[in-house]
Amino acid sequence: MARGRGRVNLGGAAQARYQGRVSMEPVIIEAIAKAGVTLRSILITHGHIDHAGGADELREKTGVKVTGPHQADHVLLDKLERQSRDYSLPGTRNLVPDSWLAEGDTVRIGADDFSVLHCPGHAPGHVVFVNTALKLAVVGDVLFRGSIGRTDFPYCDHEALIDSIHNKLFPLGDEMQFICGHGPGGSFGQERLTNPFLT
Ligand SMILES: [Zn+2]
Ligand SMILES: [Zn+2]
Repeated sequence: MARGRGRVNLGGAAQARYQGRVSMEPVIIEAIAKAGVTLRSILITHGHIDHAGGADELREKTGVKVTGPHQADHVLLDKLERQSRDYSLPGTRNLVPDSWLAEGDTVRIGADDFSVLHCPGHAPGHVVFVNTALKLAVVGDVLFRGSIGRTDFPYCDHEALIDSIHNKLFPLGDEMQFICGHGPGGSFGQERLTNPFLT
């Protein structure tokens, strides 16, 4: 995550423009420069290639530490190079984070502290970052506007995903806004009432 003027969400490589390759660190470095912020840490929500595939290279280029996801995702991070071959997306490396995250940990995003929730289902070690005062959650691929994370990949668990959303996210309140890994964000209240996968 970056700190400085404004806020830049770099919770996953998927936040950057996708240019037909996984090695997106030039795009991220350009975005950081454009926003006039300083990169302080690289936070990983989960171990899929579109969220963690460029992290090792970004760490090497910037010297900034990689934090997260939950250790249960080591099975995915150990296979990033294989995911790279399977999806014909060259250029990624396996990732060993500098530290793992667990439920109840705190991460710093800009000037604010966010609590870590472990929300398995889409990935076994998926984490979500929450600030209740700001009413803002960074949910990665757990929840989308009108949809939920896919559970047809290896190591997914559909029931666990539904449980994470109903028992960890929604109790935070309808007013919570969320930023997600793909597409526009929204509010928990709107999803609770209208999301066809959850009603
Ligand atoms: Zn994912
Ligand atoms: Zn994704």
